Amino acid sequence: MTVNLLDFDLEGMAAFCEQLGQKRFRATQLFRWIHQKGASDFEQMTDLAKALRDKLAVSANITGPKVVSRHESTDGTIKWLFDVGAGDVIETVFIPEADRGTLCISSQAGCAVGCRFCSTGHQGFSRNLTTGEIISQLWFAEHFLRKHLSKDERVISNVVMMGMGEPLQNYSQLLPALKTMLDDHGYGLSRRRVTVSTSGVVPMIDRLARDCPVALAVSLHAPYDALRSDLVPLNKKYPIAELLEACTRYQSAAPRDFITFEYCMLDGVNDQPEHARQLVALMKTHAANGLSCKFNLIPFNPFPASGLVRSQMPQVLAFARILIDAGIVTTVRKTRGDDIDAACGQLAGDVQDRTGVEQRMAAQRLGRLAGIKVVVMNKDAA
Ligand code: SAH
Ligand code: SF4
Repeated sequence: MTVNLLDFDLEGMAAFCEQLGQKRFRATQLFRWIHQKGASDFEQMTDLAKALRDKLAVSANITGPKVVSRHESTDGTIKWLFDVGAGDVIETVFIPEADRGTLCISSQAGCAVGCRFCSTGHQGFSRNLTTGEIISQLWFAEHFLRKHLSKDERVISNVVMMGMGEPLQNYSQLLPALKTMLDDHGYGLSRRRVTVSTSGVVPMIDRLARDCPVALAVSLHAPYDALRSDLVPLNKKYPIAELLEACTRYQSAAPRDFITFEYCMLDGVNDQPEHARQLVALMKTHAANGLSCKFNLIPFNPFPASGLVRSQMPQVLAFARILIDAGIVTTVRKTRGDDIDAACGQLAGDVQDRTGVEQRMAAQRLGRLAGIKVVVMNKDAA
């Protein structure tokens, strides 16, 4: 077995080159060929000596993900399914917008956290993805899209770790992938445009602050512990107060001056005005300690096994209004890619209840009437 060079960040590549008796700048050259030019064949690397290319060909490979399928939505959203072996399939979603292109990346096959409203959680945990499997989603999508859209320059400007899995439960493999996204010789993405979304693995939030501070999104979903523990079982280990304290600490290292909180709106479960008022009180307490927040309300994307129902749009907007009136910046996320099951929590497919175009337009109209921004995106915590 030869090594897959997609498994290395630049440091790892330098160590590998050293083993081959090569200088550090060779690692930079290789890294740029792979990540900036999308090379998968050493013969393309014409500025490397033939002897080195031959040596690489016997000791290394550049192997991307195995595509199972690609679905394109009418709104331009593209979803890929990748086979990562042993029956495991992961998903990557590209969401184009006027001023950016966002890629939603998976970090695990399945997820061990088991949130009630998440189809990945219902599937259970299969395994952690390797660094190569994480970064190759970006490698593949970026270079595919450049060809597909006939673009010479970068297509993907933002990455969100909001696909399958809990990224902070796969920290050691995640970290080199994040570093490669940020590296000027890799994808050169801004720290503010790379978002790690977590259900709240407190110790790893602190690690991330030290090792690689990028934008942070925290999946909150409830204003008090009993309800949050019911929805997000990890809350029993890391309750809300500890989580928000970690967020406050993170903020001093963060590239943005706020933390984004995601809140999945579940009819009759966590979407009542009372919940919004409790949330306001909770955030006020932590604001006093220095926490700045922004809320993203995500109408639940239903799947049959959950037994849960999406909140009606007027309910979502009434909830948003309470937060906004209390001075909390709040957006309502309008899902995209519904026709290809690319919306949050639908990543395993098999979704029956889809929101029709008319319903979505009505949501935007209602939003406009209520003076609340309904954002046309589904994965970007920006
Ligand atoms: N494990 C991480 C990242 C992946 S989930 C996390 O939980 O943050 C990405 C986002 O999608 C999270 O905010 C999650 O709460 C949300 N989500 C999951 N299932 C959903 C569903 N069925 N409808 C709407 N949002 C969902
Ligand atoms: Fe895992 Fe996130 Fe889904 Fe919860 S919402 S089960 S943490 S992927």
